[in-house]
Amino acid sequence: MSWLQASRHAEMEAIDILLDQWQKQGLSQLEVAEKFSKCCLYVTCEPCIMCASALSILGIKEVYYGCANEKFGGCGSILSLHLSSSQPNIRFISQPKTLKIFLTNFVSFKHLLMT
Ligand SMILES: [Zn+2]
Repeated sequence: MSWLQASRHAEMEAIDILLDQWQKQGLSQLEVAEKFSKCCLYVTCEPCIMCASALSILGIKEVYYGCANEKFGGCGSILSLHLSSSQPNIRFISQPKTLKIFLTNFVSFKHLLMT
């Protein structure tokens, strides 16, 4: 399974898991787009340029991250892909408090994904 590959980026793993679930549910392209427009993604580090582009194209609602990615960041550190997105509702927000909440709830979140 792709989610066992440590070299893959967390954002791509999350996207693949959601697409797999929604495909199994038989959702249309429009329904999938609507679902992404309501999604919030929590990651520990600023998405890289590749992931920021993918998230923008998908029209994800919000991305929360806990620290900047000074080498590859696509949300302000290197490039600001979220500002040139055609999706005006996309917001990338760096919030250390969000990271704390994410890490606190990670075990239960992981449990949800595994069941
Ligand atoms: Zn990435």
